[in-house]
Amino acid sequence: MLQQTQVKTVLERYYFPFLQQFPTLQALAHASLDEVLKMWEGLGYYSRARNLHKAAQMCRTELPKSAKELELLAGIGTSTAHAIASFAYGEALPILDANVKRILYRYFALKEAKPSELWSKSYELLDASNAYDFNQAMMDLGAMVCTPKNPQCPLCPLADACQGVGSPHDYPTPKPKKQKPIKTPYILVYQHGEKFALFQNHKRFLGGLWGFKQSDSKPSKSKKIGEITHHYSHFGLKCNVLLSSDAIEHKHWFSLKEIEALALSGVDKKVLALLVV
Ligand code: SF4
Repeated sequence: MLQQTQVKTVLERYYFPFLQQFPTLQALAHASLDEVLKMWEGLGYYSRARNLHKAAQMCRTELPKSAKELELLAGIGTSTAHAIASFAYGEALPILDANVKRILYRYFALKEAKPSELWSKSYELLDASNAYDFNQAMMDLGAMVCTPKNPQCPLCPLADACQGVGSPHDYPTPKPKKQKPIKTPYILVYQHGEKFALFQNHKRFLGGLWGFKQSDSKPSKSKKIGEITHHYSHFGLKCNVLLSSDAIEHKHWFSLKEIEALALSGVDKKVLALLVV
């Protein structure tokens, strides 16, 4: 939940309401995907919500108790499995999230490194007798001292041994910044009377969410009702929104009130805002 949203917002708007709605793994496993996505709406990274739901269904009532078994659950990679196992069950395992990777690159002055090398460095540094505190300390150090833009080497408890001290930005070798592509599909709002056609996304990206149709071609009878822009981490959208009363064969028509109860992506929420003014 914390990928791109501030802690305070996550706690108030998402974390506590989510736990209230799904207080146990069983409650989450028995919920529909629509209900889970609705509680996640606005957070982005919807594959996490889908995986959380799937993982709850895979483990039924109890979370597995070892990193090896945790890693078999949907959406749980090695670092997350190690984090859960070290924090919850005291397993002596290191983690390798973005903060820890950044510290390792700098501490060992690595210009580049494969994931396997970073894992081996993280085991090398781990205090195996106290993995819980060690992992917590690495996360805090990465969040507060060895930060991406403004690392505080003079304040750092690792400064004496760190090989990247004084020139942290050299590790790893900075990558040239890529321009994000901008896509410009039309967003087509089909209306019949009081009802609008919505489509459920079945692709991996935004899978399970409902939304208006996007198309590269413009229907013959349509009028522009607005323009929206939206930025994802890997591309941007700049779209004309067109209202059309063309007769289309479609099963799912909703009133505005019904649309508000569906889980929509950020883009489709912006389109909905154009319709409710
Ligand atoms: S000394 Fe500087 S570069 Fe090294 S770990 Fe600390 S903050 Fe990061």
